[in-house]
This record gives sequence, C-alpha cells and structure tokens, in this order.
Amino acid sequence: KRTPFIAGNWKMNLDHLQSIAFVQKLAWSLADAKHDFADAEVAVFPPFTDLRSVQTLIAADSLPLAYGAQDLSAHDSGAYTGEISGAFLAQLDCTYVIIGHSERRTLHHETDLDVNAKVVAAQRHGLVPVICVGETAEDLEAHGPSAVPVRQLRTALAGVDGSKGIVVAYEPVWAIGSGQAATPEQAQQVCEALRGVIAELLGADVAAATRILYGGSVKATNIASFLREPDVDGALVGGASLDIDEFSSIVRFKK
Ligand code: 13P
Repeated sequence: KRTPFIAGNWKMNLDHLQSIAFVQKLAWSLADAKHDFADAEVAVFPPFTDLRSVQTLIAADSLPLAYGAQDLSAHDSGAYTGEISGAFLAQLDCTYVIIGHSERRTLHHETDLDVNAKVVAAQRHGLVPVICVGETAEDLEAHGPSAVPVRQLRTALAGVDGSKGIVVAYEPVWAIGSGQAATPEQAQQVCEALRGVIAELLGADVAAATRILYGGSVKATNIASFLREPDVDGALVGGASLDIDEFSSIVRFKK
C-alpha cells in the first residue's frame, strides 16, 4: 500500500521570510481541516535559501510536513561555485530532493547522465530523490507518450539502490504551467510504463512500493481524477502549491 504523496515545488518563489509564514499557515490550514497524513503525505520544496528557516520552524513546532530541495550537485564538495552538496541538504534534515526537473533539463542543459549522477549523489547522502521525467510536445508527436520518459528513467536509475527508496514524477513538459493538464488516462499510461521500468531494473517489490507522481497543471479540481488511476500515487504541484487554500484542497483530495 503506497501512501499518496502531494509535493509542492515552489520553484524560484517565496524568500526565507515568506517561507516561514507560508509553511506555518499551511500547517494551520491542514490542522483546521483535520487532515489525516495517513491519507496523504505532504512535502514542500522551497528554494535553497529557505531551507534552514523551514527546517527550524518544522522542528520547533513538530509540524507533520516533509521538505526537500529542488536540486543538488552531483559532487560532494570542492571547486563547484554556486553548487549545493547533498551533504549540506542532509545536514538540514531534508528528506527529499527533486532531480531532473524539466526546467533544469531545458534551461540548465542537464542530460540524462547528469540526472543519474545526481540521483546517485542523493542516495549517497541519505536523501530520497524525486526523479522527474517527461516529454515535450514535439517528443509526444514524434515518439508517442512513454518513449522519452522511459528512456530518461532507465538512465536515471543506473547504479541506484532500490532499497533506499525513490520517488518518480512524470511531468509532461507541455502540461507544466500551461493550464492544460494531461488526462488521467494519459498519466496512467505513462506511469504504468515507468513502473515497468522500475520493476525491470530494481525488482517487482521496489516497483510496487515506489510512488509515482503526476505533475503539470494539477489543481484542486483535477487532483482526484489523477489519484483514481492505479499507477498515479500523488502529484508534484507547481503554481497551485503557492496558494495555501488551493494546495490545502489538493492535499485533501477525495477520490
Ligand atoms: P505547474 O503545477 O505550475 O504546472 O508546475 C508543475 C511542475 O513543474 C512541478 O514541478
């Protein structure tokens, strides 16, 4: 039984002061609504500069929220100006780290091999990687729905220890920030193929235990339709994760 996972990727929004107010209000909203975290785990992914503040608040108030970073370096330390080591994220008690988001692949030219090196680095530091894969509209036209995500995941998983836990996020690039989400059937088709890749490379038990998220224009009004699909275990939410009422409603989806 996989606990549904609702993750908020803030991208480059909310500074460290805003992050404190936001996380506190989110926790209040979920407490007011008596959200049962056995129904859905909740995580936020703030910018690096917010992580220490978020850590301090969550620890001080014992808030039932997880958090992680939006990226990490493939290296552990050294002459890598501007990079952040997984060791530093582990020191801040991050549970998760997003790796291979399409914005990193596109704007920062990260390759499938770069993503793999980061996934291995995350595991080296005890962080659970949230591995993002997804096709562009051109890929969809040229290769069909699952070819590119499957290729990306195959490479990302090389040398990965399945027993340490991974999360996979299927985010079609054409659905991100476009207001045009994939259909639940489209998401299911690709998530099922991705689970097949995990089974092949890491074994059936790991595949059955791994949460596969859908991301791309998820809102309170469409979340339940995705969670009804057998291979969709949650959502990676961008824009709608910045609105407390909307995100809180997404977390409290009813199938
Ligand atoms: P939107 O929810 O804004 O479409 O973004 C999705 C995303 O990229 C989450 O990582």
